[in-house]
Amino acid sequence: MLEGRARIRSERRVEVDGTAIGAGRLIVATGTKPVVPPIEGLADGPFLPSETVWDLTRVPASLLVLGGGPIGCARLLGKEEPAASEVIAQVFKRDGIELRLGAKAVRVRYPAPDTVRVELDDGSILDAQHLLVAVGPTPVTEGLGLESAGVGRDERGFIRTDERMATSARGVFAAGDVTGRLLFTHAADEMGRIAAGNALRWPMRRRFRAEWTPWVTFTRDIGEDTTVPELTASADGLHWHPAGADAATSPHMHLAGPGTSLREGKRLARERFFTARLADGTLPQPYRCAI
Ligand SMILES: Cc1cc2nc3c(=O)[nH]c(=O)nc-3n(C[C@H](O)[C@H](O)[C@H](O)COP(=O)(O)OP(=O)(O)OC[C@H]3O[C@@H](n4cnc5c(N)ncnc54)[C@H](O)[C@@H]3O)c2cc1C
Repeated sequence: MLEGRARIRSERRVEVDGTAIGAGRLIVATGTKPVVPPIEGLADGPFLPSETVWDLTRVPASLLVLGGGPIGCARLLGKEEPAASEVIAQVFKRDGIELRLGAKAVRVRYPAPDTVRVELDDGSILDAQHLLVAVGPTPVTEGLGLESAGVGRDERGFIRTDERMATSARGVFAAGDVTGRLLFTHAADEMGRIAAGNALRWPMRRRFRAEWTPWVTFTRDIGEDTTVPELTASADGLHWHPAGADAATSPHMHLAGPGTSLREGKRLARERFFTARLADGTLPQPYRCAI
């Protein structure tokens, strides 16, 4: 094992901090890093990316959060069932969290120590003690030397792979977040196994199927007084939708209700997923799990 910063020199050669090593196959799994959006003034002060927000040792007096998805939780959980966003919006409102959905930050200032001021495109100004920037990940591919091996990337910079995790360069595979497929630990783990299996064995039999991979977005207990949309089960009992939603266009599966523990949610996700797979030997249409 070599510890250090790797750079690809060709399809068969990598350099780690000056030490060159040859390899029959390469797997690139360099992950992602948080995007720093090009907002005027943002980089002039100590904003918090999702990597360092965990270093805070005290609960801040106030926190401004830029960004969507499960990390920022604004534009709420855009990849989940819309009903899940409504539930989270209710909880946030009850907790006194102000939501400015659809607003764009245009300018950031740090007028005093422990103060950050964000100007939105509607002219409003928001002040807080800290600013968490969680607008999404960007792949770690710059400076890796991918071009010297002929590894292609998509328009967002993620490494293009086929279902066997092979890249456009012969003998070079990629796995995990850097492929931009499904940015989850369990998906990265699965992609890594597939890439390693295919790299070492011919013919390459194993495929990664994102649509078979469930995920769960965990929240803290959302409380008894939160209105959770009524869910209806599909005929096979495996797909649950908000009542009235079209099963064909709303392929999400809700597995658990408020208060479900992490352990129980994971157990349910696994159980439902594999039950579905075993039921008639085929896998269901893409579905996701959300609480
Ligand atoms: C705040 C946050 C919360 C998350 N929560 C969850 C969650 O609850 N559940 C979930 O499933 N997923 C979660 N994720 C996503 C999860 O962390 C990723 O899907 C997972 O880490 C991807 O694994 P990876 O191996 O592809 O990349 P990474 O874990 O990013 O690992 C990449 C590694 O490559 C190294 N590297 C990069 N460039 C080089 C180089 N040139 N030479 C040598 N080494 C290099 C990096 O230092 C790093 O160690 C979260 C992510 C974030 C940011």
